[in-house]
Amino acid sequence: MKTGRRTFLKRVGAASLAAGVPLVSKGRAPAVIGNGKMKLSCRPYDLQLRHTFTVSGFSRNTTPVILTEIQYEGVTGYGEASMPPYLGESQESVLKFLKKVDLGQFRDPFLLEDILNYVDGIDVENRAAKASVDIALHDLLGKLVDQPLYRLWGLNPAHTPVTSFTIGIDTPEVVRMKTEEASRFKVLKVKLGGDNDREMITTVRSVTDVPLYVDVNQGWKDKHQALDMIHWLNEQGIIFVEQPLPKEQVDDTAWLTAQSPLPIMADEAFQRLGDLASFKGVYSGINIKLMKSTGLLEAHKMITVARALDMRVMIGCMTETSCAVSAASQLSPLVDWADLDGNLLISNDIYEGVQVIDGKVTLNNLPGIGITRLNPSLKDA
Ligand code: MG
Repeated sequence: MKTGRRTFLKRVGAASLAAGVPLVSKGRAPAVIGNGKMKLSCRPYDLQLRHTFTVSGFSRNTTPVILTEIQYEGVTGYGEASMPPYLGESQESVLKFLKKVDLGQFRDPFLLEDILNYVDGIDVENRAAKASVDIALHDLLGKLVDQPLYRLWGLNPAHTPVTSFTIGIDTPEVVRMKTEEASRFKVLKVKLGGDNDREMITTVRSVTDVPLYVDVNQGWKDKHQALDMIHWLNEQGIIFVEQPLPKEQVDDTAWLTAQSPLPIMADEAFQRLGDLASFKGVYSGINIKLMKSTGLLEAHKMITVARALDMRVMIGCMTETSCAVSAASQLSPLVDWADLDGNLLISNDIYEGVQVIDGKVTLNNLPGIGITRLNPSLKDA
């Protein structure tokens, strides 16, 4: 891989790349990209969760993912699709989608808009499958110019936020244990929407006084009861409330957001960029996840549009390896809040990437999305 990258850099001229204009030399025609073809490969992988994960509505012990690679000129970009069951994608559906993707038709891997618009147009939905191509392509591009994505976007790695660690709905004994285990985090995200919401919060509060995010996962149904609960939560050191009501209850949510002393964030209600314009006045902000946004290209646009609408922005994740989590982390200097703990919830990660140091998302200097494979052979993963 190193050799391929060196050869490539030599060809395009490293100086012009370092100036942040990856493929256009000063005063000259665009550099030759090379004659290589991009090749996409993929394989299923099952993530093992450290603890049974319970949110409003269901529990699970594993999460299916698809690991992708895009190879070009001896350089490999890594990507991932994560498919928590409630989103409607599966390993089968992702594999089926990826079989239709023909990247060989594009000679220039830097044509992100063209390539990813083509991928998006292959079929509707399939958002995680699309994200797996987007992430691998971004990783490839970063490696080709030997720069982390956050540098190519001009972002300051010192501006990354702290990340929360999620405490799922459980008995007080388990919640207490998980909260104690999470002592290195400066903020926790507590799942509510079960039948023991106040007990969940008081149990966490019996262990720690760090700020809390609350995620209801659409678990409350009545806007008046929701508002009462939010007033109580406001006295418990909560920062925001995520998806308190079912996403279909748009008018109720707008009423709640107008009354609420805490920001109301959209998660399940928010998928693609096009959703955003109708959210002004309904939600205070959005939770962006690469598996919903179809990847980094659209996620970056979402942040820009949300800011223009004066909305808050958080970046979250599914249960994922360090691949997708590190990819999302590259954007984290732009957001208000981060919930990037998906890789920490699994016991069989096969990548090493972004770290949580002093509770903060900590980016490294590796190119692309900033990961290394713990096992270099895809077959042996
Ligand atoms: Mg959520």
